Amino acid sequence: MTKARFPVSKSNLPVWKRILSRQRTHRDLPSLEIEHEGGKMAKLKLALYWAASCGGCDVAVLDVNEKILDIANIADIVFWPIAMDFKYHDVEAMKDDSIDVCLFNGAVRNSEQEKIANLLRKKSKVMVAFGSCACFGGIPALGNFWDRTTIFERAYIEAPSNDNQARTFPQTEIKLDGVELELPQFYDTVSTLAQVVPVEYFVPGCPPPVDLILKVVDALATSQLPPIGSVIASEKSLCDECDRVKEDKKITKIYRPHEIIPDPKRCLLEQGIICLGPATRGGCGARCIKVNMPCRGCFGPPAGVVDQGAKMLSALASIYDVDDEREIARMVEEVVDPAGTFYRFGMSSSLLKRRRMQT
Ligand code: SF4
Ligand code: SF4
Ligand code: SF4
Repeated sequence: MTKARFPVSKSNLPVWKRILSRQRTHRDLPSLEIEHEGGKMAKLKLALYWAASCGGCDVAVLDVNEKILDIANIADIVFWPIAMDFKYHDVEAMKDDSIDVCLFNGAVRNSEQEKIANLLRKKSKVMVAFGSCACFGGIPALGNFWDRTTIFERAYIEAPSNDNQARTFPQTEIKLDGVELELPQFYDTVSTLAQVVPVEYFVPGCPPPVDLILKVVDALATSQLPPIGSVIASEKSLCDECDRVKEDKKITKIYRPHEIIPDPKRCLLEQGIICLGPATRGGCGARCIKVNMPCRGCFGPPAGVVDQGAKMLSALASIYDVDDEREIARMVEEVVDPAGTFYRFGMSSSLLKRRRMQT
């Protein structure tokens, strides 16, 4: 039996240390080895899990269509709650590091997701944050503008379809007909996967596009994995891969996408539509731009940028062509839902992380 070592060079270690320094660590560096049998790589043991997610990332894996057979050729799926009947105790019974790769989608919003993230980390050699929610917090992290109390108040009391005069809220423990029932604890703050456990790779996208998924499968099949800490996408910004004409035009008005029919050849931002291209990592093939819709930023910030929202605010401010204070105020007002516009996918991983908690 031989072992193929993943390419972890000294030059990669600073990346890894950087990741570790900004997250709560629960274990030492995982062993990055996949066993070979008789000179041939044994089938990978693959786990897939969803935490705070919509299920789209799981569906995206199935979107690889007939290529799923290629995945079946190289991997045995040992855990995939959305598709197969595995139980948590099946995973608990596995030896540590016995799962080769875990594709973890969804953010971490409650105690069950945190527990399973830790469990899968312990059992997996390679942990992949799969999709924008796992990488950056994603849509669930917009909840970080609120907290558990205000979210529960809205969901269980104020929502127009509710009739909850007894003000009943979910409890973490309850006894019903003599049986103790438990629910996960709902946290105030949504976290990225890497804020909970060490993560080797990041695959962005809401959901990740099929060609990126196949790239990951190919890298696993050939053991040609990139340096630890890599984001499996482009190193450049989306604007760099967008072929629309950019004329360096300034703008005097912000339009929402339904308010104008944009010229399909010209840069959307220069037509007054907020397109997050300058603050977003490339690699999706500009799939929204190609259908004349602005980028919403699901690939997260480009390499070297920490806070996607702040980067976009500065890009937008640089093309405003107004000096008058009232005009500036008008243009600021034209940005409907600034939090959702600039931090739609990246709230957890932003410098803000969440709205300040009331104490
Ligand atoms: S990244 Fe998008 S598709 Fe994937 S779970 Fe989150 S919201 Fe759903
Ligand atoms: S801002 Fe949007 S439309 Fe303009 S170049 Fe960048 S990605 Fe393309
Ligand atoms: S254009 Fe932007 S929002 Fe659309 S898929 Fe690409 S990165 Fe995501």
